[in-house]
Amino acid sequence: MKYIDEFRDGELARGLARTIAAEADPARTYRLMEFCGGHTHAIYRYGVQDLMPANVRFVHGPGCPVCVLPMSRIDQAIAMAVEHGVTLCTYGDLMRVPASERNSLLKAKAGGADIRMIYSTQDALAIARKAPERQVVLFAIGFETTTPPTAVAIKSARAEGLENFSVFCNHVLTPPALATILASAGKGVVQLDGILGPSHVSTVIGSRPYEFVPEAFGKPVVIAGFEPLDVMQSALMLIRQINAGQASVENQYTRAVTRDGNPKAQALMAEVFSPRDRFEWRGLGFLPASALRIADAYADLDAEQRFPVAPSTGREIKGCECPSVLRGVMEPTDCKLFGTVCTPENPMGACMVSSEGACAAYWSYGRFRAPATQSAVGADVGSSVAATVAAPANLPTASAPTRRDSAVSA
Ligand code: SF4
Repeated sequence: MKYIDEFRDGELARGLARTIAAEADPARTYRLMEFCGGHTHAIYRYGVQDLMPANVRFVHGPGCPVCVLPMSRIDQAIAMAVEHGVTLCTYGDLMRVPASERNSLLKAKAGGADIRMIYSTQDALAIARKAPERQVVLFAIGFETTTPPTAVAIKSARAEGLENFSVFCNHVLTPPALATILASAGKGVVQLDGILGPSHVSTVIGSRPYEFVPEAFGKPVVIAGFEPLDVMQSALMLIRQINAGQASVENQYTRAVTRDGNPKAQALMAEVFSPRDRFEWRGLGFLPASALRIADAYADLDAEQRFPVAPSTGREIKGCECPSVLRGVMEPTDCKLFGTVCTPENPMGACMVSSEGACAAYWSYGRFRAPATQSAVGADVGSSVAATVAAPANLPTASAPTRRDSAVSA
C-alpha cells in the first residue's frame, strides 16, 4: 500500500474482518491492549472495534502523554508561572487539564499568569529570543516521540547562550509503564493477551525495547501503525501468535519502524537527559526509572532547579475514573461523570481533554450512543471504515455499545 486512502479501504477492511472472524477461536477471549491514544482514536473513529468478533476486545492503555501526567505536575507548572512570574509555554492539550482546586493552566492564564500556547519547542525558543527580559519555561511533556525535539531546544539554547530559557521536564518512558501494566495484571490492572505496540514512540526507540515482554511475561507484541487497516492487521497478527501459543515481537509498521529505531534521536536523548529514580504516572502511581530529568551537564537549563516550587499532592476530581481508564479496568462509559458533568467543553479529567484521551475518543466518535445517532456520526466521518463498510453478518453491528465484558474488567 502506498497512499493513505489505501490504509482506510473498505474492501480490504471487510476482507480483514472476515479473516479475523474466521481465525479467532470462539472458545476464548482476546484482550489486546493498544498502548497508544492514537490507536484508541483510530479504533473509535473508524469503527474498528465494531468490525471485530465479540471475543476480540481492545483494551485502552496509558499511551496518552497528557492523560498520564499527574495533577501535581500541572500544579507545579502553574506555581512556576504564578510564584516566579515566568512565561510558561505549553501545548494546547494541557491548557484545560484540571489541576488542584479546580484550577487549570487556562484559568491561571485568565487570572493573569503569562501562560502561552505553542505548537513546537521552537516557538518557546523564539519567545525567549524576543523577550530577553522574561524568563521563559518550556513545559515539556510526552513519550519518547517528543523527547528529541526538547533535547534539540535545550542544545540550541546552550549553543546560543540563551540565559532566559529553561525546561520543566516531564518526559516519560514507554517500556517501564508496559512492564508495570503486565506485572500488575489481575491486581488492579486488566489481564491481557497481547499488546499493540506504540507507533511513533517505536520510530524513535525501535522494536527491540519491547523484547522483554515475550521473554518475561510470555505475551506477544505487534508494533502497529495508526491507520485502521494497520490496527486490524496487527490484531490479526496477535491473534495468530496467541492461537499458535507463541509470543514474540513483530513489526507491522515496517514503513516507519526498525528494530533499532533512530540512533541519532537516541543519542540526543542520552546526552541531554538522565533517568529519574521514580516518577508519578496518573493511574499507575510512582514507577521506577520511568521518566527523564535534565542531565547534570545541562542542569542550568532545568526549570525545576531554577524555579523551585513546593511539591503538590493534587487529587483527582471526585468521581473521575481516569486512573481506572488508564489501567484498562474501566471504559469511559463506566464513569458516572461521562457525558453528564464531564464533556470536552467541561472536562473533569485529563482523558476527556486530550486529543489522545480515551474519554475524548468515546465522546467524539459517539460509539456509546444509540443506533440512530451512531449512524449519523458514522455519516459525518467521511472516510470512516465503519461508515463505508457494512459489518459482516456474523459480526456485531456498528451500533452496538462497546462496553467490555466483565471478565476483562476483573
Ligand atoms: S469521563 Fe471525565 S470524569 Fe470520567 S474518567 Fe473520563 S475524564 Fe474522568
